[in-house]
Amino acid sequence: MVRVRFAPSPTGYLHVGGARTALFNWLLARASGGEFLLRIEDTDRARSSDEHTRTIIDGLRWLGLDWDGAVTFQADGTQRHAADAATLASSGQAYPCFCTPGELQKRREEARRQGGGFAYDGRCRRLPQAEVRGRIDAGQKHALRMRAPGEPVSWHDAVHGQMSFPAGSLDDFIILRSDGTPVYNLAVVSDDSTSGVTHVIRGDDHLSNTPKQIIIYRALGRALPVFGHVPMILGPDGKRLSKRHGALSVTAYRDEGYLPRAMLNFLALLGWSPGDDRELMSRSQLTDSFRLERVLKKSAVFDLSKLEWLNGQCIATAGAPELEPLVLDRLRETNGPAAGAASQRRAALHRIIDLVKERPRTVHALAAQVAPFFAVPATYEAAAVKKFWTRSAEAAELLGSLRDRLASTRPWSPDELETTVRGLAAERGIGAGRVINPLRLALMGQGVSPEIFGVLVAFGPGRTDERIGAALRYLQDAGSGAGE
Ligand code: GLU
Repeated sequence: MVRVRFAPSPTGYLHVGGARTALFNWLLARASGGEFLLRIEDTDRARSSDEHTRTIIDGLRWLGLDWDGAVTFQADGTQRHAADAATLASSGQAYPCFCTPGELQKRREEARRQGGGFAYDGRCRRLPQAEVRGRIDAGQKHALRMRAPGEPVSWHDAVHGQMSFPAGSLDDFIILRSDGTPVYNLAVVSDDSTSGVTHVIRGDDHLSNTPKQIIIYRALGRALPVFGHVPMILGPDGKRLSKRHGALSVTAYRDEGYLPRAMLNFLALLGWSPGDDRELMSRSQLTDSFRLERVLKKSAVFDLSKLEWLNGQCIATAGAPELEPLVLDRLRETNGPAAGAASQRRAALHRIIDLVKERPRTVHALAAQVAPFFAVPATYEAAAVKKFWTRSAEAAELLGSLRDRLASTRPWSPDELETTVRGLAAERGIGAGRVINPLRLALMGQGVSPEIFGVLVAFGPGRTDERIGAALRYLQDAGSGAGE
């Protein structure tokens, strides 16, 4: 049975790369009826915090990446880590190293001065047994170092294929610090092998840790998992993903009006593809199609416009009941009156959501289109005012006569409304857009809306009249202001 894990260090929020790693593991587990474990790697006490653990869990929950069993914490396994280290020491595969951090630092600097990389020279490996015993008995502090084998370490990586680290590239590495705390490579092997992890799927940045972990697995006589290292994520400019390319924290996308479904879909396509040209995929389609072998070796590109597009598609196809709470939350943050009215009129809210949901790419944009149906716009979008109400007096005059004609337009049907609007445009010898755009701005407070006659029907005659009245007051104030 497949058993995978996501093992974040709680030293920051859940970032895009971490969420993608979690997702690939989760998909692998769900695709094969296996298990997905969550282990918080909190051994670095100074940098870990409960707050980070909470935001990571929050992010996973938002994405719907559920784990099996209880969350485990690496720091709870310290005794087992030490016991595994002791096993390695007593079999002679690890040895006490008395070199102090200060000495090691000096040697590292010396190596750098000479233009080379630092590798531990193995001096404590060669200490006579009697001396080792004597120094330990005298209470001298020591770390435990793993004996690197004098041969290459190879494995078949599920993503990269055959990988091999030559013998010379691996020095004897520390597994237990002199204060008795385990080093990541030991803790992770101890935890993964104890919990029966079959596949270790993680970021490329861990590639150089893998040979060390394989050395520990072998020395402990435990079965190796399958390793797979997923590629880096780069910005569209080919540079390492950074804030310049968009938010890095997954929950920031929730806060900016993205649906978890869209985010999940987007993350899945970062370094993986179903092998055909499908892009928009549901959670179950993703689970059905996910294959580790199809994870690409080359770096993935983080393209925010693709996320926006996916989100727009998810909004357009979501049902109003699903979008309603998100829209109401956003209205509560931005437009109290509209939130109040919309929450009183749920059936109307559903109809309006269905009417406007086709084009907005975020929940924020969707809410901005819903708001004017429930409250007179508090402001008019500046760019649209400049474009469609260029001269206040002319715009007011046009909207005034349109208002009069609409007052006598009946039935209030799309066809009849269209006749009224086009009739006015024809009389004035202008294109219909020159009437529709100023009207849309009056109704919506912004330059975008779905097809205007459907919008008018949704507003009804009373609200339409009220919105145009408000726009006329605004234009009057603007007209009496300076510069007009
Ligand atoms: N805690 C490590 C990290 O956050 C992950 C270790 C692993 O997946 O093996 O990078």
